[in-house]
Amino acid sequence: MVPYDLYRLLQCPTCGSRDLIVTDGGVACAACSADYPRHDGYIDFMPRGLAFDYVSKYVSEEEELAHELDYRDLAPPLLAAGVRNRTLRRLLDLRPTDIVLDSGCGNAKFAAWNADRVHLMVGVDPATLFADDAVKTVALIQGDARRLPFADCTFDKAFSIDVLEHFPRDVIDAYLAETARVLRPGGRFLVFSNTREPSRLQPLVDASRWLGRQFVRAGVYDFEREARRKSDHVKALATWEDVLDAVQRAGLRPVRVVFWNSVFTSFVEHVLMKLGEAFVGRGRKKGANHAGEASSDLAAPVGEGTAREIRARRRMRAHLQRRGLVYYALLAVTLLMELDLWLFGRLRSGSYFVVVEKPGRAERKER
Ligand SMILES: [Zn+2]
Repeated sequence: MVPYDLYRLLQCPTCGSRDLIVTDGGVACAACSADYPRHDGYIDFMPRGLAFDYVSKYVSEEEELAHELDYRDLAPPLLAAGVRNRTLRRLLDLRPTDIVLDSGCGNAKFAAWNADRVHLMVGVDPATLFADDAVKTVALIQGDARRLPFADCTFDKAFSIDVLEHFPRDVIDAYLAETARVLRPGGRFLVFSNTREPSRLQPLVDASRWLGRQFVRAGVYDFEREARRKSDHVKALATWEDVLDAVQRAGLRPVRVVFWNSVFTSFVEHVLMKLGEAFVGRGRKKGANHAGEASSDLAAPVGEGTAREIRARRRMRAHLQRRGLVYYALLAVTLLMELDLWLFGRLRSGSYFVVVEKPGRAERKER
């Protein structure tokens, strides 16, 4: 959506002017005369006349990935996404007056899940593969995180989920500096990403992986879709020191960190859920005419593993909307995964949630 409140925050991403004119078709800059057209549910605010070296895979292969990412329908926040979302809420303390930025929002699921908790939720991504629910509830911008179309000190909070690991170092620096610019003094920014650091509990993680491989070998399931999804991870911030160095260089102060050693999580992801998926997504005999499961949707050339997973997800979603037994079973599994954070959150590992703060006098009193 493009709410009225969004217009007050904007500045031209090309020349930095705040002298913008709302037109019938979108927004125009009075200073550099760039045009930013409004599309169905979002405004195209990509900086004009600038060519960046780095373009995310999600942008360059947008069409191809659109099908595979299965981005349009949102399930409730469960499993790994559920843990991220619960931790986001816990660490960022969203308030009804907050103006919040999700930079690199992807399909904007985290923004959509939290939009009703804040005054204004804004999602920015260069690719426009937005979920239908996000289009309804989130102020969406097609934009580049290195040149955000917002005035300085606009946002109370910001978050970045599964973004940094995709960027080379210079892009990370530009991304963090730009986020710091649009955050108000005292504003907080939550980052979830991962370094290359192994967990000290790695043997336990490896045990689940080993078990998962046995099922792959037996042909019960595969990890085809996961492999695609992680294929452009650069992890330029290789260690936790690199992360601290990067945020501090952007003028941000770390205030809280929770590591995610995926002991329970990897058992759930490599064994428990894949078995469930193989069961729910098997064949097409049963339930092939479930709502929203037109078989032509899967006509694009994806592997059987991917097709099975998408099929399983769609069938699950139909169940989840009803908040029945399946929903509560998956919520229980989500809480089992979250146990990793409660038990091992202080034990350094590759995956981390870090909350950083933009220093300044306008700090609000803590509870
Ligand atoms: Zn301009």
